Amino acid sequence: MTETPRRRRPSTELVHGGTLRSQWAETSEALFLTQGFVYATAEEAEARFLGTSPGYQYSRFGNPTVTMFEDRMAAFEGAEAARATATGMAAVTSAILCQVSAGDHVVAAKALFGSCRYVVEDLCPRFGIASTLVDGSDLDQWKAAIRPNTKVLFLESPTNPTLEVYDIAAIAEIAHAAGARLVVDNVFATALWQSPLAIGADVVVYSATKHIDGQGRCLGGIVLSSQKFVEDHLQVFIRQTGPSISPFNAWVMLKGLETLALRVEKQTANAARLADTLAGLDGIGRVIYPGRADHPNAAIIAKQMRGGSNLIAFDVEGGKAGAFAFSDALEVVKISNNLGDAKSLITHPATTTHQRLKAEVRAELGISDGLLRLSVGLEDIEDLIEDVTEAAKAARAAV
Ligand SMILES: *Cc1c(COP(=O)(O)O)cnc(C)c1O
Repeated sequence: MTETPRRRRPSTELVHGGTLRSQWAETSEALFLTQGFVYATAEEAEARFLGTSPGYQYSRFGNPTVTMFEDRMAAFEGAEAARATATGMAAVTSAILCQVSAGDHVVAAKALFGSCRYVVEDLCPRFGIASTLVDGSDLDQWKAAIRPNTKVLFLESPTNPTLEVYDIAAIAEIAHAAGARLVVDNVFATALWQSPLAIGADVVVYSATKHIDGQGRCLGGIVLSSQKFVEDHLQVFIRQTGPSISPFNAWVMLKGLETLALRVEKQTANAARLADTLAGLDGIGRVIYPGRADHPNAAIIAKQMRGGSNLIAFDVEGGKAGAFAFSDALEVVKISNNLGDAKSLITHPATTTHQRLKAEVRAELGISDGLLRLSVGLEDIEDLIEDVTEAAKAARAAV
C-alpha cells in the first residue's frame, strides 16, 4: 500500500513518500532483488499481460523497489509520475528520444554536460532529428531557433561547469507557444533548490548518481513528468529499449533520498562560505556561485531558485599551470570529475569533462584553462577553508 494519504511537505516525502510495505511490515524499505515475478495461475499471467490484473511482470518494466524510488522522488518533486533509469544519461536520452521521430527538430542551450551535448549535437542528427544549439541566456536566440517541426527544447540550469542560470519560465513559454515541450536537466540545482515543473517545464531529468545517491556508490537516473507523458511516451520507450535501473541501485537511491535535504543544505551552506573565501584570496580571479550577489544571473536566481547549489566555479591565475598547482596542493578536497558527493571534489573541465570540445567552443562557453569546478561536500567548513587557502598559495608560487 502506498502511504500518501495527503500532500505532505517535501522533507517528509523524502523519508516516507512511496513506501510499499510487504506483509512483514519492515521499517526500512525492502530490496526486491528479482528479475521477474511468478503467477498463481496461467489465467493470472494472462491478465497481468493484458493489464487487467495489477502487479509486476518483469523488472525491465517495473519492480517494487524501483517503484518506491520513483514514487518518493515524484512526491518530493511534486510531479505526477516518474520513471527511473540506469544512469543520468539514460534518463536524458530516454526523455528526448521517447518523444521525437525523424523529421523533428530539437533546440538546446549549448552549455551542456558533455554527453548531453553529444546526444543533441551528434546522436539526434544521425536519426534524422535536426538540432540547433543556442546561447541559453539569450531568449531571442531560443525564439529564432524555433521551426515548425520543433518538438523539444532542452537545457541544464545551473549549467556545467560555468553555473549560468537560465530563465526556465520564459523558455517554457517559448516552447509552449511553438507546441513543443521543455526538458530540464536539474542536476546542479537539485529538487531541493529548484522546481522546474512548477514554473512551466514539462519534463525534469536527474542523474541520481550525483546528490540523490550523494555518497559515490551507484549510477542511476530519473525522468519526472505528467502521468500522460509517461503513458504516451516514456513507459513504452523504457519497457521496449531497456535502460532500466537495477533494483539494488534504486534501493540505494531510495535510501539516499532520506538524507538528501540534510546533505544538500549543509553542502550549500559550506559552498556559500567557501565561495566567499575564494573570492577574497589572491591569485583567484572570477568566482561564480549562484548564491552570490555578483552572479551574472542573480535576478533570475532570486526568482526561480531557493538555494545556491553546492557547486562553485572559479578561475585560478596562471591558466592550466595555476589550476593544476591549486588542485595538486589540495589535501581534503579530492580530484575527481564527479559531483554532489559527501566528499568535496575538484575538476579541471578543460582537460577532463570538456576536453572533447574544440578550444574555440570551450572559449565560447567560458571554460578557460584556469577554470576549476568545485563540488563542495560535508566536511568541516574550517578544514575546507584552510585547504583552498593553502592551495591558492601553492598556485601563486607555481606561476
Ligand atoms: C552527471 C550528469 C549527467 C549524466 O549522469 P550519469 O549518471 O553520469 O549518466 C547528466 N547531466 C548532468 C548535468 C550531470 O551532471
